[in-house]
Amino acid sequence: MSTLAFALAATIKHDGHGGIADLLATPAEAAAWLAEHQHLVTQVLLGRPGSDLGRISYPNRAVILPDADESGVRDELVRIRGAVRALFARAVAPEPPSKADAGRLMAVEDALRMVNRAADRLGTTHLEWVEEPATRWAFRTDDPVALLVGAVGRSAIDFLVSPARGLLRACPAARCVKYFLQDDPRQTWCSASCGNRERVNRHYRKRHG
Ligand SMILES: [Zn+2]
Repeated sequence: MSTLAFALAATIKHDGHGGIADLLATPAEAAAWLAEHQHLVTQVLLGRPGSDLGRISYPNRAVILPDADESGVRDELVRIRGAVRALFARAVAPEPPSKADAGRLMAVEDALRMVNRAADRLGTTHLEWVEEPATRWAFRTDDPVALLVGAVGRSAIDFLVSPARGLLRACPAARCVKYFLQDDPRQTWCSASCGNRERVNRHYRKRHG
């Protein structure tokens, strides 16, 4: 399962050398990430899987998603990502959160406020009846960045009140900083590679520790 908020939280990952890689480190990287995940944004804004990049259109309205180079997109994504990760940290408690930002998490109250405010910009859903009755957002803004951040906020809310929240884990492997969804109750690590690395480490510690 992939949701927008979950995908955004996953833009902080281990770099394979004991450090942390941020896939949103620069505006260009943020633009690339956004281009790759625009279907998830569209999914939230249209309430169903969207088509392709750029323009979402439906009766009487066209929304152009943030341009690749639009300034501020990266900063806004990083801000709302901080809120999402603070809420993920709370969701996995009492287990420890991802080590990437464990020491500098946003206060939960601030994270809630940010996510709720962002989602507010989408407004309410209205009934639309072209062929079949359907709902669509009656946005409170035309600002594409606000809509993008709003889509993340909405996605975070939907994720956190869904059963998927109970499957959220922070990978406990030494160098890993990933949040993942536990598919199986016996799954401890985010990936087979983390599991193998940890087994080797433990074996080594036992023999040399
Ligand atoms: Zn891992």
